[in-house]
Amino acid sequence: MHPIMAADLDHLPAVLEAARRSAERILAGLDERPAAHTTSSTGPHRALPEDGSGAQHALEQFLRRWEPGFSGSAGPRFLGFVTGGTTPAALVGDWLTGTLDQNVHAAAGSSAAELERETVGWLRELFGLDAGHSGAFVSGATMSNFVRLAIGREWLGEQAGVSVNQDGAAALGPIHVLSGTPHSSTYKALSMLGIGRNHLNTVPCLPGREAVDVEALERALTELDGRPAIVVANAGTVNTTDFDDLRALTALRERHPFWLHVDAAFGGFAALSPEHAPLVDGLNEADSLCIDLHKWLNVPYDSAIQFTRHRTLQTSVFGNWAAYLGTPADGTDFSQLTPENSRRLRALAAWFSLTAYGRVGHRTIVETNTALARRLADRISHTPGLRLLAPVRLNVVCFTLADNPTMDQLNALARTLTEAGEAFLTPTVYAGVPALRAAFSNWRTSLADADRVYDAVVEASGLTPN
Ligand SMILES: *Cc1c(COP(=O)(O)O)cnc(C)c1O
Repeated sequence: MHPIMAADLDHLPAVLEAARRSAERILAGLDERPAAHTTSSTGPHRALPEDGSGAQHALEQFLRRWEPGFSGSAGPRFLGFVTGGTTPAALVGDWLTGTLDQNVHAAAGSSAAELERETVGWLRELFGLDAGHSGAFVSGATMSNFVRLAIGREWLGEQAGVSVNQDGAAALGPIHVLSGTPHSSTYKALSMLGIGRNHLNTVPCLPGREAVDVEALERALTELDGRPAIVVANAGTVNTTDFDDLRALTALRERHPFWLHVDAAFGGFAALSPEHAPLVDGLNEADSLCIDLHKWLNVPYDSAIQFTRHRTLQTSVFGNWAAYLGTPADGTDFSQLTPENSRRLRALAAWFSLTAYGRVGHRTIVETNTALARRLADRISHTPGLRLLAPVRLNVVCFTLADNPTMDQLNALARTLTEAGEAFLTPTVYAGVPALRAAFSNWRTSLADADRVYDAVVEASGLTPN
């Protein structure tokens, strides 16, 4: 063994204690840590160390050179994109994931895969899905959408009597993908799958909405004249958290052949709150769906889940066999279900959080966040000089400055908020209007935080609070 490693091993309790103390200090400072930074002042990159200096020194280096420039994205006022934090139990699960370093593979001599199965079952129940859905952890919603669309593509092959996994996507000819307000990751998935970004046909939405116009979708399907398609439904759009009418889309399947994929990356969490659950009514009927866990479940990156009712097709796409792997032929192993072969036990952080806080604890995160979004929106809508761009359906507040601001003005406003260390909000364009989004999805965010964000927005815009 390398002598420095041997020394670290000898002093493992002290090494771990130092790391624990750092984590404790960082977490204690999270509420006051700047939500984000606008510049990075880390200096030039260093050369690869020839002789290392041990774990304690590495920790000191990290804390000195890098940690100060890291954002407060785990904290309560990082409201950019859709960003969750990490519950205490999820953090413990994540630490132990690295500690035990399991490869979730059936033949790897571990019960880790069973833990993932138990967790998948809990999540299925949490999101109101029946046992017909099988699931697996992946690294994020983009990867989840990719996996789902790959299975949809295989299904199109089955309809046409060709095998895409054997003969390639070209065997299918042009593929028709229809969606109202798809997330950018859907385009990325189509690029990765050899379907092509241009084959996404965006269908008109309802007036003033981001939800697909079901009649327009039906017209588009009718034009396909019986050729099978993929429909990507959106359950929670990033700008206004709008939801396609999943029941109506499901009903269309009685008249038209299509694979129904639902991108419910964060909108799926509406199912946890009785008040919001109607937004995802029909989710269970999807052929496949995607839910991000590093967003609203508040487990660390990288974690999402994909569900499908068509595991046999999934195994056709992702199956992987070699004598030395000893993979079961029945497609029950996770390595047959997702792009990775060796994969980390992502489920453990989710297992910890669900064990520690249960359905009710996680419902409370959703309900608290939605109440805070509503409060911020309410204050914004009563503030002359600010304008709410859409009603708050769930957890995102989309707003702008009252008199036709430019994108530059909104970018400057976001920057001022960041520089003040008060909040991280991300700019967007909604219905052609430059805007800011505040997305609430962190378990730590309180009423005081929501009000602090409001005060910071008002101050940075030079307005008078309401
Ligand atoms: C965040 C998000 C994604 C992509 O998720 P990643 O975890 O960043 O890969 C996809 N769809 C929707 C609706 C999202 O909100």
